[in-house]
Parts: sequence; structure tokens; C-alpha cells
Amino acid sequence: MLDLSLHEIAQAVGGKLLMSPSFTPPVISSLATDSRTVHRGENSLFVALKGPVYNAHNYIPELIKKGIRAFLVSEEPKPSIDAAFIWVNDTTLALQKLAAHNRKQFSYPVIGITGSNGKTIVKEWLHDLLSDGHKIVRSPKSYNSQVGVPLSVLLMDDHFDLAIFEAGISQPGEMQHLAPVISPEIGILTNIGDAHQEFFSSLEEKLQEKLVLFTGAKKLVCRIDEDWIYTQAADFCKENKIEPIFWSIENQHTDLNFSLKKNTRQTEISGNYQGRSFSFAIPFVNDSAIENACHCAAALLALQQNPADFRETFSQLQPVAMRLELKQGINNCTIINDFYNSDLNSLSIALSVLKQQAVSAQQKKVLILSDILQTGLSKKELYSKVNSLLEEWEIDQLIGIGAEISKHRNCFSVKTTLFSDYKEFEAGFNRQAFQSSAILIKGARRFRFERISGLLQQKAHQTVLEISVNALVHNLNIFRKRLRPETKIMVMVKAFSYGSGDIEVARVLQHQNVDYLAVAVADEGVRLRNAGISVPVIVMNPEQDSFQNMIDFGLEPNIYSIELLRNFAQNVSAAGIQSFAAHLKIDTGMNRLGFKSSEEISEACEFLKNSDALKIKSVFSHLAGSDEAALDNFTQSQFEKFDRAFDQISSALPYHIDRHILNSAGIERFPQKQYEMVRLGIGLYGVSLTGLPVQNMGTLKSTVSQIKTAGSDETVGYNRKGKLDSESRIAIVPIGYADGMNRKLGNRNGVAFIKGQRVPIVGNICMDMLMLDVTGTSAEVGDTVEFFGPHIPITELAEKIGTIPYEILTGISQRVKRIYLQE
Ligand SMILES: *Cc1c(COP(=O)(O)O)cnc(C)c1O
Repeated sequence: MLDLSLHEIAQAVGGKLLMSPSFTPPVISSLATDSRTVHRGENSLFVALKGPVYNAHNYIPELIKKGIRAFLVSEEPKPSIDAAFIWVNDTTLALQKLAAHNRKQFSYPVIGITGSNGKTIVKEWLHDLLSDGHKIVRSPKSYNSQVGVPLSVLLMDDHFDLAIFEAGISQPGEMQHLAPVISPEIGILTNIGDAHQEFFSSLEEKLQEKLVLFTGAKKLVCRIDEDWIYTQAADFCKENKIEPIFWSIENQHTDLNFSLKKNTRQTEISGNYQGRSFSFAIPFVNDSAIENACHCAAALLALQQNPADFRETFSQLQPVAMRLELKQGINNCTIINDFYNSDLNSLSIALSVLKQQAVSAQQKKVLILSDILQTGLSKKELYSKVNSLLEEWEIDQLIGIGAEISKHRNCFSVKTTLFSDYKEFEAGFNRQAFQSSAILIKGARRFRFERISGLLQQKAHQTVLEISVNALVHNLNIFRKRLRPETKIMVMVKAFSYGSGDIEVARVLQHQNVDYLAVAVADEGVRLRNAGISVPVIVMNPEQDSFQNMIDFGLEPNIYSIELLRNFAQNVSAAGIQSFAAHLKIDTGMNRLGFKSSEEISEACEFLKNSDALKIKSVFSHLAGSDEAALDNFTQSQFEKFDRAFDQISSALPYHIDRHILNSAGIERFPQKQYEMVRLGIGLYGVSLTGLPVQNMGTLKSTVSQIKTAGSDETVGYNRKGKLDSESRIAIVPIGYADGMNRKLGNRNGVAFIKGQRVPIVGNICMDMLMLDVTGTSAEVGDTVEFFGPHIPITELAEKIGTIPYEILTGISQRVKRIYLQE
């Protein structure tokens, strides 16, 4: 834990300390950067970061009210008698300086990892391989950014005797800031691929940038099976007097050489280092796991570990779950799986997610926790700290599973139930005991808590739509960056958020402070309100029967005709309400809903002037062809009609009214027409017309149920449409047209992605199943199959069957479970 005075911090970061003379400055023991999750932090320093779309300085007054008393700022602070400020030019740089200062206080070895892939896995595996003999501090999850790295390094203290940190970069010039923060003694370069290539002109340039991390290191672990990497890395080591620990697979000329033998479930790895032989096995067969394991072995050799111990430790390696998983549970519960690890840091991160989920869904907060494998504290101190975290995050119930935690009942003040192991929990398991709760399941990998999750989870159909919450937020920010900071954003969550799940998506958007949500019909809005969503919601098709619901739940109508205006206003007046928020839609060329002529508009204005039932918040229109250059003249005429209509309305009504006309493609192509608000739809869900760097957000996947062999004289499926030219392997997958797989994708038109390659769909697609031709692949029962996602863009799928991504996304049936992943 940190233990720094504000004077020391101000000095380390070169900032000016400002506080009133009567203020007693706190000693700082932790840092916070997220205004939404910081809490009860008398001894926290809040670092006010600033990005292109985010400025944490705006939250300072609110945080002072919450009891935060120290701030690191880059904008001139408003004096306060309740808080101290350290004023610097750039808060990110200051945070890095502070971390570099902390780093210098310790002389135990630090391992620094960078590269395009595998950083987090190598870090986690090294931790597991070394945790028997060492007390290790490491980056929580994949905290490897300009902010994540300093936050990780600030966790170093003298309880530990080894540190492992990862660093990620996406642009030239970034590593020079991270290198002094980590200042590794042993470096690991995992590999160089084309991730984040958009800002680099070549792979060589990217490698040079990554090597900067290792400038002051003593040893560098690097795989040299590619010549260009070898040349650059060898020159770098020579120049900086670094001992190279270079390794390769099947190349006898390196100091450290590995050879492989793959079995069905494990890989036997034999190594030879400076003439000495050893061997071990890992329970994986894929190439990336093998590469990661070889990096770990090389790093252990760099730390002078005895290779005779490798066989024992490497056989225990387990897959690293790097993401929190949100799933629907039994009895209106939500399950948050975090099998990543159990230590205090990652517990505190996961508790913030639990609270966020539970508060917006009005659920109870339950934590199922294993023994914590934290080193450096006595068990009593450790579990007392856990208890303070539980109190801070207002957890309603703790279920502890494990021998250690069971011994420390006295440490806990919240409602606690303890079990000595998983079997005891299962024996007493009662489904009814879990009702309307958000349940965080957090256990170190070795506790195998996935079995507990299995008991609490709604039994899911094997076919799922996986939604990446990170991609969603990333895409939102990509579009935000195209807009002026003050422009409001309405996000379209109609049709179950384009198939991605209305409530879950709305919850994320609310957390991201979007200004409006839009639904098609009132029922969709009622669902959001019942789930605790409080953002303003507009209903695009207000229907007479739903007026009362809209009034009761504060759902704002899109008023598109004079009849609707009169009817809705009458209902509002009858309810005794004034100035109910409403929006006016202008038809500028779609010939869909909306006021079209200036006579209609003037009639609406007359009505509004003489009635106090409604207050018009915005006037809007919709573009018919914002995505089509050939229609740009028409689009311009829509803008002109819109401006005229707005002038007419705003001169008739005495108050301020917002304007909006752009949808996603409009934001991409006509940002100058953003007015006061825009309406984001498909872009958020990962489709960009002009090639913005949006990320894939949804992945439709299933698993192979059965594999069989069929001869060339046989056929597959209904009407014998699936012809085979030769003996073939056929995989049967439980997804059909009732799940949303269009029948036109059958008969080798559509493809699936399995075991790293594309395979055709063979024969007609059935209602609940389809068949894949997996001849020549190593596909087996239980393998994951992707139908769209990172390997098969949804745009490609849409084109194949002559439709648009919207139709595919909204056509995925409700029986396909949505699973939310958060990194
Ligand atoms: C659906 C919808 C949008 C969003 O369109 P995208 O093309 O998905 O961005 C915007 N405005 C209105 C009125 C809509 O109905």
C-alpha cells in the first residue's frame, strides 16, 4: 500500500500544492481515476484525467461532496476548504512520474512484458509458476495503458519480492513514457503482429518502439524464429549491453532451443539451454499457448530457476479468463463470473462492477468468494481488509468457500455463510435461496468456481450471441470523437438494441452518460424504466393505447402529426401535468412519419402556443440516403427543408429547442450538420460505412454437437441438397433458421469459422440445426463455431444474402442467449 504525504507527491510530480491553511492534509494510500467507482476515499488521491471526449475535472465538486479530499489536476482548481489540490500541466504525465518515483524505492526484480499478443497470459502464467516461492505484485488484469501501467506500478510496496508488469502501446512515442515507470530488469517481447498497426508505417517501426521498454534491462527474452526480429533485437541488445535470452523452436543454433510433440490434449516440450536438456508438458495444443509457455520457460531460466521443476509446475497451467462475464441466472439473478484470480486488487475492481449492475437492476449484492491467495499479509489482516471492501461496496451477503476463509468468520460483519469447499456448497445448494440478486463469483483459477456458476446459471442453449461491452464503449467513443464535445448523443436502442439486448446495453450507455435513448414502441421504454434506466427516453411510434404508460414512466413521444399532438396533449392535461417533454418530427423527404407542409407545422405551433401540456425539447428529421453519395444532392435538400421548418417552429415558440437529423452514416459523412444532437444506431453496434476503426461487438457462436463421416454417394440434410464430391467429415451444429440463420446461407453459400479456418455450410439449413463440411480440418465435438464476429464480418454475411447488417442483427431470435463480456 502507498503511504505518501501530499508534499512528497507534489515534489515527485513537479506540481504546485494548493490548500487552505486550516486544512489537515490526508496521507495518501490509494489512487483513483474513475469518478463513478471512487468511494469513501479519505485517503485517496483522485487523478483528474482528460481525454478527447472525457474530462474528469467536471466531477470534482461532486467528489468533494462524497468525501474525497485530495486531487491531482491540470486545470486551475477552485479553492475549497475541504480539499487539497496538486496542480500540474498534464495529469497523465504526472501519474507516470509518481509511479516512476515509487518504482525507484524498490530493488527487487521487475519483469516487463510487451508485444502484440499474449502479454496478459504470459504475465499470469509467470505469476502462477512463481507464486510458490515468491510474493509477487503484478498488473491487475490487462492494465497496460498509459494510465494502467502507472496504476499497476503504484501497487509496489515492500511486502513483495518480485514484480511483473505489462505495457501496451498503440502509437509511436508512447513507450518512452512507460519505460521509466516499469524500468524492468528482465524484459519479455512476446511477439510482433499487426494489432494496432494503423499508426505505424511498418512492423519494424513497431518493434523498435516496443524495444524502448527494455533500454535499461539486464536480460531480454525474445523469440527469434523470424530473421528480421532476430536482427533488430540482437542489435538492440548489443547497443544497450543486454544479455539476450533468445529462443526458437526447432532451430539448433540458438542458446535456448525448444522442440515439440503434440498429443490430443497436451504438448510435450523439450528444451536445451546452453547444453543442458530438460522437458515438460503443458495441457494445451494451440500454437499461441505453446509460444506463451516457451516465453515463461525462458523467463524462468533468466531468473535462474531450476528447469528440473518445470514438469511439475507447467502441467498445472490453466486457461486465463481475462474478462468478466455477465450471464442470466436463475430466479431473476445476474451472474458475474470472474475466475481471473482472487486478490484484493482484482476483488475491488470486480466489486465495482457488481455494484454498478445491482444498483441499476435493483438487485441484492451477493459475493461468492474463494480463499484469497494474497501474499504479504497475515490471514487475519487480509480477511479484515476484505471485510472493509465489502462494507465500502455495501455488499448484502458473502458466501465464502475454502478452508482459510472459513477459519475467519470473526473478520466479517456482513451476513456471511461459509463452506469449507465446493462439495459442501453443492450438497446444501438451494435454488430458492437466490432471488433477484446480482451474484459475483470470484475465485482463483484453482478453485474451479465455474462449477458454481453452472448451478446458478440459467441453462443456456449452446448457441449464444456474445456482446463485447468494451467494443460497445469503444465504438461510442469513436463516434463521440467526430462530434463537438457539447453535442448531445441519442442512442437508438430500439428492437432490443439492434438485437444486442435492450437493458444491458442501456445500462452501459447510461453509465457512459449518453443524453437520450430511443425506442420504437412504448413497451420497450417501460422495460428500460422497470430495469432502473433513468436517462431520457424517446418513443418513436407512440400508440394511442400506450399514452398512459408513457406518461406514467416519463417516456417522451415523437409527435409526427397534428392528430397525435392533440390526443397526446389531451391525455397529459387529463393527468394534471404541464410541460411534458415531447419532440416534433419533420418529414423532409422520407415520406414516412412527420409534419410535411409549412401549413401543418404552423397548425402545430398554434396549438402548442395555446396549450401548456407539452414542451417541445427537440425538432428532428431523418435522412433517406445519408449512406449513399449518389443521393448527396437529395440529402442537401433535406438539410435545407429541415432548417426552414426549424426556423418556422423556433420563431413561433418562446423557448430553446434542440435540433437533430444525423444517423450513424450521417455522423460519418456530414458532421457539420450535427446541430445540438445526433442519433447513433448501427455504428455503435460495430458497422461503419466509411471505415472508422469501430470494433466488432457481437459474435454469434455455437458448438459442434456431433461429427460424422459421409461417403461421396451420400447427401446431407433435407431434400438431399447437400451433395458430396468425396468422402467428407460433417459437423452438426445446433443453430438453425429459428435462431436467425437465414436459409439462403445454406448449400455452401454461407460459411462458419472453426479451428482457425472457414468451412462451408452444407445442405439446407434446418429449423434448429445446420451442417458444416469440415473435411480436412481437425474439428471435433465441442469445438466453438463462429457464424459472424471477428473472423466473419456481419457485412459480408449481409451481402451474401442480399440484405443489410440491421436485418441480421435484429433477426437473431430471443432464444439465443446474450452473454456480455467486459474486459
Ligand atoms: C433507427 C434510427 C436511427 C439510427 O439509424 P442508424 O442508421 O442505425 O444509425 C436514427 N434515426 C431514426 C429516426 C431511426 O429510426
